[in-house]
Amino acid sequence: MGVTTVRLVLGDQLTRGLSSLADLRPGDPAQVVLMVEVQEEATYVPHHRQKLVFILGAMRHFAEELRAAGVRVDYVRLDDPANTGTFTGEVARAVARHKATRLIVTEAGEWRVRRLIESWEASLGIPVEMREDNRFIASHARFDRWASGRKTYRMEFFYREMRRETGILMDGADPVGDQWNLDAENRRALPSRLPIPARSRPAPDVMTREVIDLVAERFPHGFGDLEPFGWAVTRDEALVVLDDFLMTCLPSFGDYQDAMRHGAPFLFHSTISPYLNVGLLLPREVCDAAEAEFRAGRAPLNAVEGFVRQVLGWREYVRGMYWHLGPKYAASNALGASRPLPDFYWTAQTPMRCLADSVDQVRRHAYAHHIQRLMVTGNFAMLAGVRPADVEAWYLAVFADAFEWVELPNTHGMATWADGGIIASKPYAASGAYIDRMSDYCGGCRYDVKAKSGPTACPFNYLYWAFLIRNEEILKGNPRMAMPYRTLGTWNSGRRAAVLAEAETFLDGLA
Ligand SMILES: Cc1cc2nc3c(=O)[nH]c(=O)nc-3n(C[C@H](O)[C@H](O)[C@H](O)COP(=O)(O)OP(=O)(O)OC[C@H]3O[C@@H](n4cnc5c(N)ncnc54)[C@H](O)[C@@H]3O)c2cc1C
Ligand code: SF4
Repeated sequence: MGVTTVRLVLGDQLTRGLSSLADLRPGDPAQVVLMVEVQEEATYVPHHRQKLVFILGAMRHFAEELRAAGVRVDYVRLDDPANTGTFTGEVARAVARHKATRLIVTEAGEWRVRRLIESWEASLGIPVEMREDNRFIASHARFDRWASGRKTYRMEFFYREMRRETGILMDGADPVGDQWNLDAENRRALPSRLPIPARSRPAPDVMTREVIDLVAERFPHGFGDLEPFGWAVTRDEALVVLDDFLMTCLPSFGDYQDAMRHGAPFLFHSTISPYLNVGLLLPREVCDAAEAEFRAGRAPLNAVEGFVRQVLGWREYVRGMYWHLGPKYAASNALGASRPLPDFYWTAQTPMRCLADSVDQVRRHAYAHHIQRLMVTGNFAMLAGVRPADVEAWYLAVFADAFEWVELPNTHGMATWADGGIIASKPYAASGAYIDRMSDYCGGCRYDVKAKSGPTACPFNYLYWAFLIRNEEILKGNPRMAMPYRTLGTWNSGRRAAVLAEAETFLDGLA
């Protein structure tokens, strides 16, 4: 009897309770789990080489786990000579190989792959069942119920509904501590002598070493250092990283959530986003684990609420918005940004120390924390008027946790305001003073953060005002932008022209 059902598991679907595996009977020879490493996925953006190792390494370990549990796994490696290099090609080969009469797959995490899957029923000539991804707290229907018919989509209101519904950090009908959001307590600058905890980073095993060698051979000129490679590639390892975070970092996570320090990539952050995004950890369990730390008196409320808001609030919200807004969301360019991405986003070669340090860190670790992404690399790209598509391609490539459903709303909405305010009520534009307040970057920079103009002035300063002048028509009426526009209102035309000219000269120099 030929095999009848093939279940395709994608590289970010590494969860035993995944919907496509729900009714799988281990030991049944008529059920095959198919996993494929394909060149088209490895190259649709120039991924950081650690991201490639992380995903391929985690896929190979997951396949082994399934095999050990008695599941029949058909695994196609990137360097298999017969590999066609595409999802569609590999699924077609597998269907023929197993004489499959049915394909089951959990929906993909982005429109591009979802469309591919939707085309398979016609091209393969067998039924293709696409199941909803059950690893989020809010289903599509739940999110759409919240979002439909709204004029504005503020995360805070969605987050409160999620808190009520899940009971996370609730005392009956009220939020623990009688406050929904303690963000105002979470903006402390980092004292210069405060020690930063060392992090638990798993060492690569033999299987991961093999993948490191494969990526080194196939992507010799790819972006990013391959070593030291310290990402977890199994659920057990990811749980160790989570525990380490809860014990050593969570108590200070809230206080220093927005802080930055030269040479300190992880600070008190969890570094679990790659694990959540490929399914080695689940959002509900990490929220529950953080809440347990609060209930046991080991972590303060501002830290735990801050963490829960990121996972239960922001993560679920951006995922909901990505699907709710549809593929056209990426097409807008509300501020008409048209410059190319400067080269230093790849090379880290810039005298602006905040940018050089952030990019260098990304090159070494495929990681930057939220404020580096939003207020350093994102802020600069927006102030400089870089094309949204260029910025998005960079964010999608360089981080170990980058998948379009989470990258796009953060980049297109939060960082560059290319969506014109659908996600963020105002652009997160800031001059050098913000970076100076939240980091120690400026002390060692060639530029003077206090100087507003002239050859030694911090470029963020004049770029900030030039940005406000350039986009005055669009932004002036925004009540949250009233303060800077009041200041700008006191400037004469000569001062405005001078700032615009200084910004243009600087930006032309970058090209
Ligand atoms: C321009 C830009 C691009 C981004 N691209 C990605 C991306 O491709 N993938 C990604 O997972 N996150 C992205 N983020 C969100 C956030 O920066 C990362 O999730 C976070 O820095 C990951 O580090 P961490 O695990 O140490 O997070 P922590 O600071 O420890 O936060 C805990 C968890 O909360 C979740 N989270 C926090 N903020 C967000 C957010 N804004 N949106 C969604 N989830 C959030 C993450 O799962 C994270 O692991 C982006 C943010 C910006 C501003
Ligand atoms: S002075 Fe300006 S460019 Fe230099 S580190 Fe500070 S903010 Fe960045």
